[in-house]
Amino acid sequence: DSYLTRLRLTEPLLNSFLHVSNTVLKQAQEIDDKIKNNEDVGPLAGVLVGVKDNICTADMPSTGGSRVLEGYRPPFDATAVKRVKELGGIVVGKTNLDEFGMGSTTEASAFQVTANPWDVSRVPGGSSGGSAAAVSARQCVVSLGSDTGGSVRQPASFCGVVGLKPTYGRVSRFGLMAYASSLDVIGCFGSSVADTGILLHAISGHDSRDATSSKREVPDFTSQFISPNILESKPLKELRVGLIHEALDDGVDTSVKSAIHAAASHLEELGCTLSEVSLPSFSLGLPAYYILASSESSSNLSRYDGLRYGNQAAADELNALYGDSRASGFGPEVKMRILMGTYALSAGYYDAYYNRAQQVRTLIQKSFEAALDDNDILISPAAPSAAYKIGEKIDDPLSMYAGDIMTVNVNMAGLPALVLPCGFVEGGPAGLPVGLQMIGAAFDEGKLLKVAHVFE
Ligand code: GLN
Repeated sequence: DSYLTRLRLTEPLLNSFLHVSNTVLKQAQEIDDKIKNNEDVGPLAGVLVGVKDNICTADMPSTGGSRVLEGYRPPFDATAVKRVKELGGIVVGKTNLDEFGMGSTTEASAFQVTANPWDVSRVPGGSSGGSAAAVSARQCVVSLGSDTGGSVRQPASFCGVVGLKPTYGRVSRFGLMAYASSLDVIGCFGSSVADTGILLHAISGHDSRDATSSKREVPDFTSQFISPNILESKPLKELRVGLIHEALDDGVDTSVKSAIHAAASHLEELGCTLSEVSLPSFSLGLPAYYILASSESSSNLSRYDGLRYGNQAAADELNALYGDSRASGFGPEVKMRILMGTYALSAGYYDAYYNRAQQVRTLIQKSFEAALDDNDILISPAAPSAAYKIGEKIDDPLSMYAGDIMTVNVNMAGLPALVLPCGFVEGGPAGLPVGLQMIGAAFDEGKLLKVAHVFE
């Protein structure tokens, strides 16, 4: 009840949600009744979960932030949503995003712009800006987002919450609207590391409906949260931490750099051995990512043809129906990505762009492997700046894309990474949060959660 009050009062300022469920209290009542009757309720019983609107829900609209899917109600729940519900979680609503996940601010949503709860004249980050703002403003307890190139981690940093991008394959993508399938993962937001870990545990594990989901066993990420060694003076004494050299170059705000250096010193105080590591291919990640993500999206988005789902234009001929439905259904950012991707994949350009980007991807994977041989985790900022003003980068897509430099490499390598608040910089009415990114070896989410929990 109090979360719904909070939601009603803050939503006119924030616009985090595209749809709010009207059965939340009824579901909560049913759980209360079960508890009274001593019936089993799951570990997420009564926990309000926000779900990014590119993740399918059977009982609510799922638009992906696009007019092309306006009015679409999937006949099924995404596996991650199904698991949340089975464990007692209540989906409070669908959160705003950049259309199909393409953007870094939520300004590319076809429906509304979400505001940052720390300063409503600023962006919450994106593309999962609605999910991050909702947790930050306590409109829900935890939320699901998706991360193709940073869409969970960068908004977590801008909104001062914890965001976790799992290893590729850890969480089923069944029911996640595909943007770039080889990079997409469903991730988690929480206001604490423990909440985030509990949600990750709930949604992880193999799913026969996603051929890329891993069969690896899912450890109990949450068992270490009460580990007594948190009380020791040097609880992280075995841990080797590598600070990514290239992630602190001239393009990063000085105030962000100071916050990251302070966080690194704090890790040392906790017992970690800190060293600088070099990832020589770091700066190649951005161009390679935008070629690969656009290429994959140009193929994935061909399914929105006006026949199968959502928006259908009035036309009396088949090609016109396809063309008009797509022309009126997609927004400008999505059209730009489809054009870039189709170009990069076209005969004659394929080798120069797509193939070369794939080669860069291999280089990036190798350099992470080497760095993680010598270190348990790597750290960097989550973004080169704190949250910026709504409208500031809207006419300058290249500068917006440049803001993804800290996150895209991790998706290309398929690794897990966690972002948590590590300080504040000047800005807004009362300062703006800065996030620290911790990157781990594949399937080592447990270590990231443990370190972050001790750090927090
Ligand atoms: N900002 C990046 C993009 O626009 C990443 C988005 C994401 O992770 N979905 O592609």
